[in-house]
Amino acid sequence: MARIPTMTGSRRLLARLRDVMAGAGTAQERLDHIVTVIASDFVAEVCSVYVLRAGEVLELFAATGLATEAVHNTRLSIGEGLIGRIAVQARPLALADAQSHPDYAYRPETGEEIFQSLAGVPILRGGRVTGVLAVQNKTGRSYTEEEVETLETIAMVIAELIASSNLLSEEELHAVDGVSLMPVTMEGVRLNGGLAIGKAVRHERRIQILKLVADDPEAEQQRLDRAVAEMHGAIDEMLEAKDVAEGGEHRDILETYKMFAEDAGWLARINEAIINGLTAEAAVEKVRNDTRARFRNLTDRYLLERLHDFDDLAHRLLQHLVGATETAETNNLPENIILVARNMGPAELLDYDRSHLRGLVLEEGSATTHVAIVARALDIPVVGKMPEILDKVERNDTVIVDGDNAEVHIRPAEDTHQAFIDTLTARAQRMATYASLRDVPAETKDGIRVALHINAGLLADMQNLPETGADGIGLYRTEIPFMDSHDFPDVDRQAQIYERVIEQSEGKPVVFRTLDIGGDKGLPYWDTAGDENPAMGWRAVRVSLDRPVLMRHQLRALIRAAQGTDLSVMFPMITEIAEFDAARKLLDLELRRAEKKGRTPIKSLKVGTMLEVPALAYQMPALLKRVDFISIGSNDLFQFLFASDRGSARIADRYDPLSPAALNFLGQLVEQCDAAQTPISLCGEIAGRPLDAMALVGLGFRTLSMAPSSIGPVKTMIRSLSAGDLKRYLDSLQDVAEHSLREKLREFAIDHGVMI
Ligand code: PEP
Ligand code: MG
Repeated sequence: MARIPTMTGSRRLLARLRDVMAGAGTAQERLDHIVTVIASDFVAEVCSVYVLRAGEVLELFAATGLATEAVHNTRLSIGEGLIGRIAVQARPLALADAQSHPDYAYRPETGEEIFQSLAGVPILRGGRVTGVLAVQNKTGRSYTEEEVETLETIAMVIAELIASSNLLSEEELHAVDGVSLMPVTMEGVRLNGGLAIGKAVRHERRIQILKLVADDPEAEQQRLDRAVAEMHGAIDEMLEAKDVAEGGEHRDILETYKMFAEDAGWLARINEAIINGLTAEAAVEKVRNDTRARFRNLTDRYLLERLHDFDDLAHRLLQHLVGATETAETNNLPENIILVARNMGPAELLDYDRSHLRGLVLEEGSATTHVAIVARALDIPVVGKMPEILDKVERNDTVIVDGDNAEVHIRPAEDTHQAFIDTLTARAQRMATYASLRDVPAETKDGIRVALHINAGLLADMQNLPETGADGIGLYRTEIPFMDSHDFPDVDRQAQIYERVIEQSEGKPVVFRTLDIGGDKGLPYWDTAGDENPAMGWRAVRVSLDRPVLMRHQLRALIRAAQGTDLSVMFPMITEIAEFDAARKLLDLELRRAEKKGRTPIKSLKVGTMLEVPALAYQMPALLKRVDFISIGSNDLFQFLFASDRGSARIADRYDPLSPAALNFLGQLVEQCDAAQTPISLCGEIAGRPLDAMALVGLGFRTLSMAPSSIGPVKTMIRSLSAGDLKRYLDSLQDVAEHSLREKLREFAIDHGVMI
């Protein structure tokens, strides 16, 4: 049951504070003014504001009734005294006899020994404690619940003042955790390797609240009622949607969600904040902050889930109230950004300045989510499956993303931090050595030339071609420009992109892979979801063949872009010959169309396929008659060969690409292609790992395509290898029944001085 607050004075007080906030003067002057207004309104002898500064220190920032020298001098650590206790617990405290409380700590410089009673509330923003607001009286005053409530409402206004003024530097403002500044190390799933150090930026759906104090509380209440009704309607609509109405787990989840949306306590708390003088959106935000703060120390998963529900609902309600579009925070970003998100779409990632983006951490996410694919294209380490990391990391916290070991270090201790800086420096030195190899060929000691290509997907990737000295682009993932777009790029737009890719490749070959979208690589503007196993669902060429117009437009754009020059096209996820034929037919139709239009013909056309579905390997004779080249997509191939989800942490190490099964499979493909003189390459992740790449060269691969950062290490390996010795060694291991040949190959490398 909601209480009906009797203290309409809080509204009057808020209105006065609004005038102070809008008035002239520095932030400090306004804060000084605010404490006097509160003290007089509360008939309190003291009103003080403590602000949490870096290093877990609560500093007295403004006070009336305490010794002036104490302001900016009195500092309490978190947990120290009653003020520290309020900050630690993120809860209000009202004591008629404060001095007899066990946590009472007397600070002589303040002269506060004469004040007997105290009421204090945390200043919360984004569910975090950013300070404490307190009033004190000489007499043993019993503060009422309504008075405490009013202080909480006012604290929200002060929180905004602290956040939006220059009271604290940008760095300091966000570097405080409020409750814990302890280093935290968390383990997740590797979505992309590499190492990065930077400052945390929380990717949050933020709605800007421009007005905190209401002019007309009744109108605010009506706005809230309208928004709540709209929100309920929208949730009902979701429940009525055909697939949900039929029942199942997602219906249960939505039903629970609906129950929370109708939670009388939650709505009453919002109403109460409006009665106290806040605008409807500020009231929703206040209750959200209170809830977050109160739940934050809980470890119970069930309750944390509930917190997520309320958080989500608050966000929805704010959207109905403000109707605002969501914006990623893009102002005042640190130099080195480590983005921390619950989950995000690829377009959202690309909203951030790529030149400052160093790493990505996701609460959810798997290797195949498209944001991970885009992050890979950007060559930044990504760690996923880190539930609750957003509750542990604050903006501007130092974060180390160790993608190779799937670890994230938050606020690392000094020595850990230094150790990682040393590793990064050593890496940079190694990169410089690799750069010096740019113009030397990837040739083994016994004279075998291996072509090293890079995988790309963004125009920004093209600069890697001259920088690494790679031989070409072995895989251009055309879906990435589709993801980095708000709508389907039309033929002209696509042609423009492909033209620039060809132009920037400066005559080096580029293999364009047709769209690999669908399943979980959905596009923000096109719903392809719905499969239970998206990796094996409606994706890639399966989508293209079912939506031939889409495919034809893409092929048209490629043909247009490649007029008078060479073009290599490759189809993804081909499973049977008939699919290749059907895709090829569409290509031929477009070639004829271009001819009829009188376009300059392509100089030389090569048409190939990805081999990433095992079934295709059993149709090699027919396939080899049709294709100009084959590229093995080992990421998908191995997940299907071993029935082992490439995004699953639990089985990530269970099957090894260097296992006898995988090597035999690949070896036979190479033999068949060699016999037919059809070029074969491999463009999955393993091509970029020196030891794995060594095995591939031993199997007979002469073209590999990899992330640009792998070119140097793989070239170094190749130049120190004798391919003949390795082939002989591999031949001697024909009948090995071990889980993996990895260790044996590593020993070979060490014994033969191969730099892996
Ligand atoms: C692969 O499957 O190995 C591949 C290169 O394609 P993608 O990673 O884009 O699925
Ligand atoms: Mg693939």
